[in-house]
Amino acid sequence: MKSQVETQTLRGRNSPLEMTPEAFRTAGYAMVDRIADLLWSICDRPVTPGESAGAVRDLLDHDRPLPESGAGAEAVLDRAADLLIEHSLFNGHPRFLGYVTSSAAPIGALADLLAAAVNPNVGAWRLAPIATEIEAQTIRWIAEFIGYPRKCGGLLVSGGNMANFIGFLAARAAKAGPAVRSEGVANIGRLRCYCSAETHTWIQKAADLFGLGTAAIRWIPSDVNQHLALAALEAQFKEDVDSGDRPFLVVGNAGTVSTGAVDPLRRIAEFCRARDLWFHVDGAYGGLAAGVPGLSEDLSALGEADSVAVDPHKWLYAPLEAGCALVRNPQHLLDAFSYHPSYYNFSTETLNYFDFGPQNSRGFRALKIWVALQQAGRSGYVEMLTEDIRLSRLLFRLIDEHPHFEALTQGLSIATFRYTPEHLRGDDERLNALNQELLNRLESSGRAFLSNAIIGGKYALRACIVNFRTSEADIRALPGIIARIGESMV
Ligand SMILES: *Cc1c(COP(=O)(O)O)cnc(C)c1O
Repeated sequence: MKSQVETQTLRGRNSPLEMTPEAFRTAGYAMVDRIADLLWSICDRPVTPGESAGAVRDLLDHDRPLPESGAGAEAVLDRAADLLIEHSLFNGHPRFLGYVTSSAAPIGALADLLAAAVNPNVGAWRLAPIATEIEAQTIRWIAEFIGYPRKCGGLLVSGGNMANFIGFLAARAAKAGPAVRSEGVANIGRLRCYCSAETHTWIQKAADLFGLGTAAIRWIPSDVNQHLALAALEAQFKEDVDSGDRPFLVVGNAGTVSTGAVDPLRRIAEFCRARDLWFHVDGAYGGLAAGVPGLSEDLSALGEADSVAVDPHKWLYAPLEAGCALVRNPQHLLDAFSYHPSYYNFSTETLNYFDFGPQNSRGFRALKIWVALQQAGRSGYVEMLTEDIRLSRLLFRLIDEHPHFEALTQGLSIATFRYTPEHLRGDDERLNALNQELLNRLESSGRAFLSNAIIGGKYALRACIVNFRTSEADIRALPGIIARIGESMV
């Protein structure tokens, strides 16, 4: 017998995309079963199948034209699951330690399903009342976790690049004044921003996209520990002021992308305060580690920044995509982004996220973060981050003790090192080529996945643990896996 809901649906317009509750349940339960099996079996699979681009394209029969007529939802979804489960790189695999890409919390996948089903447009409060307030609470919780003022402004964006862009644009409007929005940067003078040479490439995209040009970036040398050198910052600032340039922004790193180095954030904050400069912290990777008590004095100084970028899709283990921009004074976001066209019928008394950032329509990114924060709680997150860091330090020690490796750096949860067979010691050129090839072979073996860094001219293997599935056994196995591949090459 058909339920009342189904009968109503069938009585309505019979659209090609509509699904009866029964069809939705059947396809949905099948999908959930497949996902549950995947997550359970992920550690038994290769990290990546390592197939060629041509082979992957062939799977899709890529010259096939757009189908003229439709097909059953269940069959279409089943094929999608086949393709994704058998032909993906799994960053949720316990031995995926490449780049800064985390394993995704399963609860986030369920939250994304719910978010997509309700489909609130979190651009305006009136279009998404409860979703807007959930995002606001998520922002407050993230701020609280890292020791940033709870009364800050903030919003979720697609990732670290976008979150850093928000800080950059807030700084530009605050320090260059409202004329920069109406007249453009050309009439403002030569705006200059400062950051260490270790800063992520987002700063180049920002300087380029927002009209300053990449020549506006002053790359400040870093010291032997990859920290921004304050004396060099001071000297460059003075030189620029003397020649009539307009410094407006200093970027500090809370965990550089290559080695996890934390810049001297407290002293940079003092430097900026004394000179009326905006202090932005790129904590896309490491900012969330400020939530681990007693980890680093400099990390906790991130609370003094005018703006901070953190990435929930990194160390909060949210499924892609989720970046988060926090700005100490919410007014600075309005000053940078707000416009009120005549076709908006939205009250200014409520929180409308279109006013606080570049997007108009916005998806419900907050839900997957909000549920995970509650599932693990603060203590659960502290435990997971602490364990990632402990495992990275363990890896560094194991590598250091191994006769065929050279341990290079260890910061937060990133360790860098290289394979150094005895007969090649001292020959950096050949060691660089060897390690580069070793990385490729390790990757295609599917046994573990690392990335690379260049440390003082040395090509290094880089393991970054933002992965709540990585165990001590995975880490203990790693030096042997890499050494065996190395031995097979020399
Ligand atoms: C990952 C990262 C970024 C870029 O973030 P996306 O989320 O990839 O856009 C910027 N800065 C640092 C330090 C990062 O680790």
